[in-house]
Amino acid sequence: MILDDFSLKGKVAVVTGANTGLGRGMCVALAQAGAKVAGVARRSCAETAALIEKDGGIFNEIIADLSDTANAPLILDKVLEYYGRADILVNNAGMILREDAINVTEEDWNRVINLNLNMVFILSQTFARQFEKQGEGGKIVNICSMLSYQGGIRVPAYTASKSAVLGLTRALANEWAAKGINVNAIAPGYMATNNTTGLRDDETRAGQILERIPAGRWGTPQDMAGAAVFLCSKASDYVNGFTVAVDGGWLAR
Ligand code: NAD
Repeated sequence: MILDDFSLKGKVAVVTGANTGLGRGMCVALAQAGAKVAGVARRSCAETAALIEKDGGIFNEIIADLSDTANAPLILDKVLEYYGRADILVNNAGMILREDAINVTEEDWNRVINLNLNMVFILSQTFARQFEKQGEGGKIVNICSMLSYQGGIRVPAYTASKSAVLGLTRALANEWAAKGINVNAIAPGYMATNNTTGLRDDETRAGQILERIPAGRWGTPQDMAGAAVFLCSKASDYVNGFTVAVDGGWLAR
């Protein structure tokens, strides 16, 4: 039956940036769909764990700094130690630094690119090798942005990284689809999380943004749930290299 294809029972999902925001929302959604979840973050994921465990779900945290790609194999090892396998990787962790392009330092540029792009590739490669070893395929979901399509203002490294992640999603899908590994992405619109605190605090920009969202509201972590479960489940087995916008219609304007 079709709803069974959305079930993640028996699957192990790894979500980066699991302690807050969209990552926390997706951890809860994947656990509700039946997956055992490993959440990666720099700090405690206690709130994520509590939300999942109160409904009888299974969650373990992995504390790691994702700005250092040397941590990728250690993260996989920890997932295998917890659950013995891995089926799903959600590359969610990301950062944004706002500064006039003329003043961005090379160090800040590299910080953003390292986390938002380099680690996404290295983790995807690390987990794809594990999926190949297991021989049952796998699912990778990257988190893009409206700035995978548009230029943005005062966030050049972020725009470069998120535009690259959209291209990387297609590139990896082309190579790995035949191995049963689906690589897709979600492009969130303007969501009320820490990532957008600066924007939402700026009354003028916040007003301009809200006025342009056809749905008439900012998105929430819960808004990611449907697309995340779909792209992590059997229901999306023939969806490859595509980026689903969860944006209240922003891109349709
Ligand atoms: P957030 O700032 O609340 O969450 C970012 C997450 O990344 C946190 O869990 C944080 O701990 C983690 N993280 C950051 N640096 C890390 C590091 N060095 N090591 C380990 N973890 C690290 O913001 P969010 O809105 O939940 O963002 C989640 C993703 O969604 C990001 O990739 C972001 O770019 C993307 N996104 C957000 C929006 C939005 O409007 N909020 C829109 C488009 C895309």
